[in-house]
Amino acid sequence: MGTIITLASQKGGVGKTTSAVNLASSLSLADKRVLLLDFDPQGNASSGVGSPTIESRGLLSSGLEQRDLIPLVRGTQFENLSVIGSSSDLSRLDLIQRAQGPALPAFRQHVRDLSTDFDFVLFDCPPSLEGLPTIALSCSDWVLIPVQCEYYAMEGLSQILPLIQYLQNETNIHLKIGGLILTMFCENLELSHDVAREVRSYFHDEVFEAVIPRDVVLAEATSHGLPVYYYDPLSRGAWSYLELAKEVLDHEWA
Ligand code: ATP
Ligand code: MG
Repeated sequence: MGTIITLASQKGGVGKTTSAVNLASSLSLADKRVLLLDFDPQGNASSGVGSPTIESRGLLSSGLEQRDLIPLVRGTQFENLSVIGSSSDLSRLDLIQRAQGPALPAFRQHVRDLSTDFDFVLFDCPPSLEGLPTIALSCSDWVLIPVQCEYYAMEGLSQILPLIQYLQNETNIHLKIGGLILTMFCENLELSHDVAREVRSYFHDEVFEAVIPRDVVLAEATSHGLPVYYYDPLSRGAWSYLELAKEVLDHEWA
């Protein structure tokens, strides 16, 4: 079975989707079979790998237990990288989950069945700590938390960590913190260094060594529907996500 990972943070615009897309692509470049599961109705991860989001396929439209997820998997133009695209149905899922709480184990089983065909399954989530991210976290082995090197970075963490602890106790004893990813780091900005130092001083080796720089190439690549490696393989952004993928592969993913 593959490792199931959720990228989560309730803060908007911290680099969840950019990290999901580029970590997925970097792992696929290391010959791993990777599925990117776009669990955000915004559909940015789908478009980030050039996959259409407009088509509504009835994904989970009648409930979490609805059906096998395998037929929803689509290939991408990138080797070893597949996607389940976002669809408008996802925005109703929050309500459905509340109405059908008992369906969660069935959905988790569908995700686990799906993961047998892959080395990694990555969920990209909307900026929230309810509904969709909670479902994704309830199905995952690991959570990765992007932390933008900006003001209030630590404040965001103080909200997600108790949720993770709650889910570990209540719905998913397998969930572990895979690591914090420092994103949008500006070398020449003292604030970036301060935030990175502070986060490392609290979380020590739970923070990945790889630091994602603020690099406009990352934003440009996404707007072209390309993971950054396929847009500018020599950019600092591409390099940083390859470094992150190496650390993920070195992790004890047991
Ligand atoms: P949301 O909470 O809305 O889902 P998000 O956490 O997924 O946002 P992204 O969409 O990955 O965040 O990034 C927000 C914006 O910042 C995007 O325009 C993206 O292209 C840009 N961006 C992300 N990471 C970087 C980076 N390291 N350098 C420069 N721009 C970046
Ligand atoms: Mg996003």
